[in-house]
Amino acid sequence: MNLSSTVKLNNGVDIPVLGLGVFRSPEGEETYNAVRYAIDAGYKHIDTAMIYRNEVSVGKAIKDSGIKREDIFITTKLWNEDMRQGTQYQAFEDSLERLQIDYIDLYLIHWPVKDKYVESWKVMEKIYAEGRARAVGVSNFHIHHLEDIFAASDLIPAVNQVECHPWLTQVELVDYCQNKGIIFEPWSPLGAGQLIDNDLLKAIAQKYNKSVAQLILKWGLQRGFINIPKSTNKERIIENTKIFDFTITEEDMAEMFTLNAGKRTGADPETFTF
Ligand code: NDP
Repeated sequence: MNLSSTVKLNNGVDIPVLGLGVFRSPEGEETYNAVRYAIDAGYKHIDTAMIYRNEVSVGKAIKDSGIKREDIFITTKLWNEDMRQGTQYQAFEDSLERLQIDYIDLYLIHWPVKDKYVESWKVMEKIYAEGRARAVGVSNFHIHHLEDIFAASDLIPAVNQVECHPWLTQVELVDYCQNKGIIFEPWSPLGAGQLIDNDLLKAIAQKYNKSVAQLILKWGLQRGFINIPKSTNKERIIENTKIFDFTITEEDMAEMFTLNAGKRTGADPETFTF
């Protein structure tokens, strides 16, 4: 496995195992440079969202990099307000326009907005049927949210992007998704950076001569996940790719699971208020 390695989604589309996340990276030079550094370093996958308000910079950086459209995998997401207002389809078109592309690789429902996510999934079905998204999926969906989708649609989400890291291992949801053929994609894989100083992780990482970030990303890779760590720093963007030349032992994987405390760094899909 290497930086160009992919995993097959349930519709046969290949998703690169490592992507660059760009949450909390503002429109402009910071995001533009991060995407350029990433593509130069060999990343083939960028994860953005309408609400990150940086799709213009992501699109411009991809275009300027000279990478062929078919060689880069782009994810963006449908925002909550567009679900509430019934403007899902327009929101999708607006994202494509900002990104300067005519199809998306993966389009996700960002959060399971109460009473709106099932009807929004119907719009995702339409976008997928029209070939304007190569795959569609969800984010922040728990088992009961997924069951609501299954009851209303034959189209199974390709991906579920959910907060997950050693403090929040998500064993039950991961098992459920993997049994249904839904690829699990952790967000905030580094605990939004807060896990970097963890003493247990530091001690384990040292054994492999790796950084804590590299250790956590490898832990995700060994669980079958797609990793989308965020960094706008060139050195750290490169550091996060050096995860293909070591294997964490079963014992160390298990040791990492002992950190699980149900601890979130972001909002809870059951109680979010935005
Ligand atoms: P991450 O867990 O990826 O952590 C990012 C933080 O860690 C940043 O502060 C970054 O700082 C730092 N960092 C990155 N690499 C290293 C390293 N090698 N060593 C030390 N520090 C490092 O957090 P995110 O919340 O950004 O999650 C990743 C991505 O997941 C997002 O960018 C977004 O694409 C997605 N996401 C999706 C959500 C959803 O609801 N679907 C919610 C949240 C995130 P620096 O930039 O300075 O390197």
